[in-house]
Amino acid sequence: MSKRLKVVIDKPACCGYGVCAEICPEVYKLDENGIVYVDDEIVPEGLEDRAREGADACPQAALAIVEA
Ligand code: SF4
Repeated sequence: MSKRLKVVIDKPACCGYGVCAEICPEVYKLDENGIVYVDDEIVPEGLEDRAREGADACPQAALAIVEA
């Protein structure tokens, strides 16, 4: 079984580019100001790679994926 992962957000660093939400909209949502949030910090099974891709693509390095 793969390890559970969670998203850690550095909200003040988010500039609302939306790249994360473009790559993995199932995990990364944007609020009315375009700032990222997640409904659940635990990454759903099967979305680990794309969640990581989305985090890696953030120009502000505002997202990290860590073991839950
Ligand atoms: S890619 Fe980074 S800066 Fe852009 S919305 Fe996502 S977390 Fe924020």
